[in-house]
Amino acid sequence: MTQQSRLRLDSPVQYLKGIGPKRAQYFARLGIATVRDLLFCVPHRYVDYTTVRTIKEVAPGTEATIIGRVRAVGYRKTRNYMPCLSVLIADSTGTIDATWFNRPDLRHRFHPGDELVVSGKVTLYRGKQLVNPLYEMLGGEDDEATRCGSIIAIYPLTEGLSLWDVRRSVQQAWQNCRHEVGEYLPDGLRARRSLLPLPEALERLHFPRAVAETRDARRRLVYDEFLLFEIVIARRRFRRRDEVGYAQPRTGRITDRYLASLPFTLTRGQEAALEQIACDMASPKPMNRLLQGDVGSGKTVLAMCAMMIAVENSHQAALMAPTEILAEQHFLNQEPLLRAVGIHAALLTSSVKAPERAAIIAGIAAGEVQAVFGTHALIEQGVQFRELGLAIIDEQHRFGVMQRAALVNKGRHPDFLVLSATPIPRTLALTLYGDLDITTMVDKPPGRGEIITQVVREREKDRTYSFVRTVLDAGRQAYIICPIIEKSEKVDLKSVADATREVQSALPGYSVAAIHGRMPTDERVAIMDGFRRGRTQILVATTVIEVGVDIPNATIMIIEHPERFGLAQLHQLRGRIGRGADRSYCFLVLSHYVPAETYERVAFFAHNSDGFALARQDMKLRGPGEILGRRQHGLPDLVLGDVEEDQELLEIARDDAFAIVERDIDLTDEAHRGLRERLEEMTASENLLRIG
Ligand code: ADP
Ligand code: MG
Repeated sequence: MTQQSRLRLDSPVQYLKGIGPKRAQYFARLGIATVRDLLFCVPHRYVDYTTVRTIKEVAPGTEATIIGRVRAVGYRKTRNYMPCLSVLIADSTGTIDATWFNRPDLRHRFHPGDELVVSGKVTLYRGKQLVNPLYEMLGGEDDEATRCGSIIAIYPLTEGLSLWDVRRSVQQAWQNCRHEVGEYLPDGLRARRSLLPLPEALERLHFPRAVAETRDARRRLVYDEFLLFEIVIARRRFRRRDEVGYAQPRTGRITDRYLASLPFTLTRGQEAALEQIACDMASPKPMNRLLQGDVGSGKTVLAMCAMMIAVENSHQAALMAPTEILAEQHFLNQEPLLRAVGIHAALLTSSVKAPERAAIIAGIAAGEVQAVFGTHALIEQGVQFRELGLAIIDEQHRFGVMQRAALVNKGRHPDFLVLSATPIPRTLALTLYGDLDITTMVDKPPGRGEIITQVVREREKDRTYSFVRTVLDAGRQAYIICPIIEKSEKVDLKSVADATREVQSALPGYSVAAIHGRMPTDERVAIMDGFRRGRTQILVATTVIEVGVDIPNATIMIIEHPERFGLAQLHQLRGRIGRGADRSYCFLVLSHYVPAETYERVAFFAHNSDGFALARQDMKLRGPGEILGRRQHGLPDLVLGDVEEDQELLEIARDDAFAIVERDIDLTDEAHRGLRERLEEMTASENLLRIG
């Protein structure tokens, strides 16, 4: 028996002809370990060979696709310093110049002799030219067999793997294993949603006869991906449905006094949210609620009210925050207010030292400590509550499901509230957070100054600093944010140390302090305190201050290398200013030429202050996993589907998933066996099912 005939869907890709250990590693980089992975790897584009023209044939002013080899590569800066890369491409009929502006990242991408396909509009500039064309490297040795067919699927590639390597492997995998690919969707479902049978979908995906055919194929695969994703969510939701928790009605005994002690009244959005929270808590069904509201919308007060309702019912409440700085801030701000209404609060983080720590833990166990603020330290083994009535997670996107579950498990089905400042549109939230009920606050407390955001170039920095000086002289404070703590040899980025030196020399005589996550806690607390009290005027920081920090007198933020941060993250950072009545200013400093897409992303941020719009865009650019906290929220990765563009399909898949799980939560029905197996295969490595 040859090795070929033993090839199975589960075989490692290394069993394929021509794939040795080295290439297998390259495949691994693309997330492809087995023959099955390879067959489910979806081409991201197709080149229609029938539209490929020779260089001689293409006419200026038309769109063209050309296949050729690199003859020469040139890199220069234009008169206004813009990087410009020219690649001369030749086929048997002539040459054409492909030019990319503002793409320094492509500089080392092309080498003489490389084979590639380029598509774009043909212009005339010292001969035929394509400006910023789409391109795909073909590379490697090809043969007639891999080239046959008029539509070529273009797969994601990585260094060391040519398109022909991938195609040849896919062909071989398909020839040997197509009969093993079975249908796992229940028949009725597939028919009702007009989905292609799986084997047919895969065939069309890899070997289409026309590009239009691939649409239905992709639809089938995206549907499957969404369906499995939603099944995981649906199982979580239905598992909790039958639990019995505490009925904790709001007596108002404490909450009303607390609210009266605040220097403001609740906004309408806050009132409505409090109403929902109180109603959930009053019911014996455990609350599972997500409260989302933009940065600065005032979620903390509501968390406090919820804590007080638990205490009114003689239970304890815990709030877990993702950073020590945030936990400390919540404690510092809230403890005096809580004490005033007779509540004993404590702070528990990993930097609380031994004797004090033991006392706090004992207080929690005895029920003397009624409200606890903390970090991950709260979910450690030794921490036991007497009667935990409410668990709250602040900035939920920073936590994984495991951590969320660990906090909830400190009680017997306590009410559970999560706070999120990464708002996403309602329909999406319903789908992605399908296991939670959702409250969205759209208003903000009144009297907030606007925030002006500007992109500036490093060379215009003097003007920025002199502006900052006038604002500091008016008694305000400033943040400077850097992506790294110290200079590194690997990346050329401005560090906290560099920025501190720079601002000290640009603005002599002002008090500057630096803060980052690798500092000893006492030092960090002292620095934060100095800034909160206004003794420090300029705080240079890493993203340790990204979430939650609330210092209304700080009205300036300079962000170095904004291109290093995601949109949602930038929005969080910028949310540290604009918290008082004065106008605030955010400067985004771009040091060098950045690729055009990057510039556009930063400019998009500068022109948008709506957290919803930014989160949506971020999701489009980076995928939902990234902004919702990646894998750690325990959902399968979405690699194919686009939650925005394929929203309709997502909603259909959600309905189907919930219907299936409602009837058969463990998927033990014979009709669901295929689904269960597929889910097990997919999630085996990540234990997603155990979480569900
Ligand atoms: P976030 O929703 O980002 O967590 P916070 O809860 O930190 O926002 O609130 C931001 C600031 O707004 C705090 O200083 C808080 O005291 C203040 N605040 C909250 N609610 C109101 C309100 N209704 N009126 C005025 N200020 C408010
Ligand atoms: Mg907050």
